[in-house]
Amino acid sequence: MDVYLQQEDIQPDGKRIDKVTNLGNPIAFLKGTDPNDKRIFLISAHLDSRVTDVMNRTLFAPGANDDGSGVSAVIEAARILSRSSFPASVIFVTFSGEEQSLIGSKLLADKAKKENLQIEAVLNNDMIGNPKAGESGEINNRILRVFSEGLPYVELDKKAIGIRNLGLENDSESRQLARYIKEIAEQYIRGLEVKLIYRNDRFLRGGDHSSFISQGFPSVRLTEYYENYDHQHQDVRVENNKQYGDLPEFIDYNYLKRNVAANIAVLASLAKAPSKPERVEVMVKELTNSTSLQWEKPKSGTPAGYYILVRETDSPVWQKKIFTKELSTKIPLSKDNYIFAVQSVNQSGNLSVPVIPGIAR
Ligand SMILES: [Zn+2]
Repeated sequence: MDVYLQQEDIQPDGKRIDKVTNLGNPIAFLKGTDPNDKRIFLISAHLDSRVTDVMNRTLFAPGANDDGSGVSAVIEAARILSRSSFPASVIFVTFSGEEQSLIGSKLLADKAKKENLQIEAVLNNDMIGNPKAGESGEINNRILRVFSEGLPYVELDKKAIGIRNLGLENDSESRQLARYIKEIAEQYIRGLEVKLIYRNDRFLRGGDHSSFISQGFPSVRLTEYYENYDHQHQDVRVENNKQYGDLPEFIDYNYLKRNVAANIAVLASLAKAPSKPERVEVMVKELTNSTSLQWEKPKSGTPAGYYILVRETDSPVWQKKIFTKELSTKIPLSKDNYIFAVQSVNQSGNLSVPVIPGIAR
């Protein structure tokens, strides 16, 4: 595993950067063993933390949950996964300057775009250890939320109409990744439910995955079910007998452990799987009540076969999978009533992310 610091002097922007600042993103790169496999899976969190005034750089800002919890997921994933080898590569990164408006993640996302890196999944962990809702005191330490965009941000100008015409508003690559996370995490982590939130992030709020979304990389935000605003972006203080501030004592470590384990299971599963099938297409030459699909072998890895995923158009998640060893199939279900996708699977059952078919011309 290579470890390095991505560094750059960031110029003042008149907003949240008031002087030239040397910013650093610590990165660990676990190189894949298959030279033909260009895929990269990335896990991230952010290093910086803040108090009430986002410009205050001196006050004690422990940031135990925001985002010490996410950083622990990145470090633990690196510790565990670096003992194994995978055909695909994995990047572990903790960003600087998230609270200063996603500065560090933007640096890496822009670089990845420029260098044409094949990043196929970004799992951004931001606050995954707090179990308790601030106001009501309600506790939920079983559910991990995964936020993913619906309409793909980068394609909206050119392709929005195409997406609309095929009824694929709910099928961005980020959304496919989110569904994949739910399937794998619930399969491996006892007692954890993954709640898919069909939005890019919380209402009017942001996170580092959005830097990657802006460059077209499939990205999601993983976050706790409830947020506690007394322990987020607050000066550490006691007021009316109430403790404010992002302190370690407010983390639920068993909840955090399950959420970290979910990340590791998903990364390992993605990095072991063959890459996704290429040129997945649906045939539209004839009007029929069945659906014919065709695809090509993945660019890397050895698939044992393929799953055709099926769901009704109003179902949020895949409902059925059909296995085949062939590179085409005919399914007795109408493409008008169902949505399909194809994914590769290897001998041990590791699954690629699913691909929504394009139109065969
Ligand atoms: Zn955060």
